[in-house]
Amino acid sequence: MDGVQDSRIAASMISFSAQCVRRCLAALAAAACIVALAAQERPAPPSAGMLGFPDSQVAAQRTLEQSARARASATEVGKYMHVMAAHPHHAGTEASRKVAEYILTSLRGWGLEAEYAVYEVMLPFPGERRLELLQPSRYKALLKEPAIDQDPSSGQPGQLPTFNAYAGNGDVTAGLVYVNYGTPEDYAELEKRGVSVKGKIVIARYGRSWRGIKPKLAQERGAVGCIIYSDPADDGFGKGAVYPEGPHRPPQGVQRGSVMDMPIYPGDPTTPFTPSLPGAQRLSVEESPTILKIPVLPISHSDAQPLLEAIGGEPAPAGWKGGLPLEYRLGDGNSKARLEVRNRFELRKIYNVIATIPGKDFPDEWVMYGNHHDAWVNGANDPVSGASVVLETARVLASLKQEGWQPSRTIKLAFWDGEEFGIIGSTEWVEQHARELQRKLVAYFNSDSNGRGQLRVGGSHHLAPYLRELLAEVEDPASGRSVLEARVRIQNSMDGQDRPFPVDAAGSGSDYAPFLHHITMPSLNFGFGGGCPSAGVYHSIYDSIAWYEKYCDPGHRYGKALSDVMLTALLRLSNAPVLPYDFAEVARIVAGYAREVELIAREKGQVLDIASLLASLQSLLEEGLGWNRWVAANRDRLAQDKAAASAVNQALLAAEQRLALTRGLPGRPWYRHQVYAPGLFTGYGVKTLPGIRESLEQNQPEVAQQHVAELNAALARLRAHLRQTRQLGQARPRSPRAANAAP
Ligand SMILES: [Zn+2]
Repeated sequence: MDGVQDSRIAASMISFSAQCVRRCLAALAAAACIVALAAQERPAPPSAGMLGFPDSQVAAQRTLEQSARARASATEVGKYMHVMAAHPHHAGTEASRKVAEYILTSLRGWGLEAEYAVYEVMLPFPGERRLELLQPSRYKALLKEPAIDQDPSSGQPGQLPTFNAYAGNGDVTAGLVYVNYGTPEDYAELEKRGVSVKGKIVIARYGRSWRGIKPKLAQERGAVGCIIYSDPADDGFGKGAVYPEGPHRPPQGVQRGSVMDMPIYPGDPTTPFTPSLPGAQRLSVEESPTILKIPVLPISHSDAQPLLEAIGGEPAPAGWKGGLPLEYRLGDGNSKARLEVRNRFELRKIYNVIATIPGKDFPDEWVMYGNHHDAWVNGANDPVSGASVVLETARVLASLKQEGWQPSRTIKLAFWDGEEFGIIGSTEWVEQHARELQRKLVAYFNSDSNGRGQLRVGGSHHLAPYLRELLAEVEDPASGRSVLEARVRIQNSMDGQDRPFPVDAAGSGSDYAPFLHHITMPSLNFGFGGGCPSAGVYHSIYDSIAWYEKYCDPGHRYGKALSDVMLTALLRLSNAPVLPYDFAEVARIVAGYAREVELIAREKGQVLDIASLLASLQSLLEEGLGWNRWVAANRDRLAQDKAAASAVNQALLAAEQRLALTRGLPGRPWYRHQVYAPGLFTGYGVKTLPGIRESLEQNQPEVAQQHVAELNAALARLRAHLRQTRQLGQARPRSPRAANAAP
């Protein structure tokens, strides 16, 4: 808890009305109570025990996990990487299908059941791309990344030209306006200075907000085109030596990427809510709300420089200056440029690959782990470093299976296609199997992009205590300490505080999104990072094996470390007699979010009463702690009584669905989680308590207050669900799915 923030809350309360002070004091008392209770019963540091297991099974489980980790190999991870990142393989192409085939063949070769899950989806491919400066000087943008001699794959055929997927088509000639990062705050600043983007082509730099938000906001303000470039201050020589001398983005490096309006819904833009199977009803490209109307192109800073030099008018404010040697100006109407984009929209097949290891005790409970296999170009870091770990996990599990081992629950391993275009393969699959997943999925794990550094994990907080416990047993490659200790020591040495291993809130940006946000099922995204400067080659032809093995993870030690983490996580969750979910942790974390939104309201001078929310969270904390005590007291019995354990677990895995808003978030019904969502105006970045937070940000405190009531109702449902689940475990019911109805 942040003491500085609390004193700020207290100080600002002084000016409030008496009634408000009473309300705030009650709220703060509840918050203090939560903190006090949380401190009393924080999860114990790792001991001989194991969450969800009776003591009698712990030693055997640990031996199994150690055996799996001993089999995971850096050399194997490297081998898969060399195959999967050998050629450019963007979705919808023969090269991408071949990667899927390699995965399928490997899985089957190891003796696993594996199948394709094929969808036919609407993908854009770049046709005509033109960007020319016409006034006051002339320049024709190259729109091309040059090959680099030291990087053998950088000159390969089959590279996808630089483009932004799901931009609109058009040929526009207009004046240029520089909009900094193109965030809502940047547009507010322009408006203040009397600069309009109506009828203009805006030039925005990458960074701060997700790329798709930049053209979306430009379009809403009447701009006719949008150029997005990588400024060297954020991504290039301002960060250090550029490729191949260093790891950072070279002058002509370009970040490709999707500008689909994913904060509305991801997946095939023409089939929202439904899988893109043969005969699916489709919107037209023109009707799809997630395809932009204006042309958009990503460019290098080498192509951006002549354009920025051509822009006259008022000098840009201090924070708007990038790293190029020029005077950044906002625009005066004297420049003129032509931007032409012609993307072809085509229905193409994409190939997910799904492997299944059936569970021997609870085959209808699934623990799932996946990542995408499609890339923008070769994609050594994104996605192959993550997908290779899924493959290594599969190989090790297959080798255990050959020796007669079988998990208690079913394990599914997924390799998604079409992620780069807009999280398409996983979204279509989740939309197809939504109801079954809501009955069966214990957790979905994802690992997109892995490299040197610390382990970062984000997602459902009721999995955090289980996660911390297992991370204390996996070795960190750099320090020789545990992965848990390595991260916590660094984190706590920065400010001297004593905080547990953090599980971040999850926004969007990879294949966990449909699991967490659409069907509200437990999900976690994993990856080592922070020491690998992957931003410098992100979505470019330089995200190659040569770059990766030199600058990101030489020797694939972190590929091996992530394999160790994922194997331990899968084996533990697939074997635990009682699912190790902890809803007291959810109460603690959400109480923190509640204080954040209260602060936003106060800073904006809006009235938001969160006393009821803090009281709900206090009740959830007590219910969650009661649940944890009940499991500790009953796990030996449940481990013997499979019918009772099954009833408990099947109810438990549906618990997070109680936090769903059935009608969805305001303006975007596809997103249903009331605790986490990608920001409507920030894209991948997470907004916690999105209904409340975004209503406040849009100056609608009454709507925010309605969302407080909705969340209170959801928390009450979750508490009732936990109570009912406990009764199921005690009563040994006849119908194991009694508590598992849809929310
Ligand atoms: Zn990725």
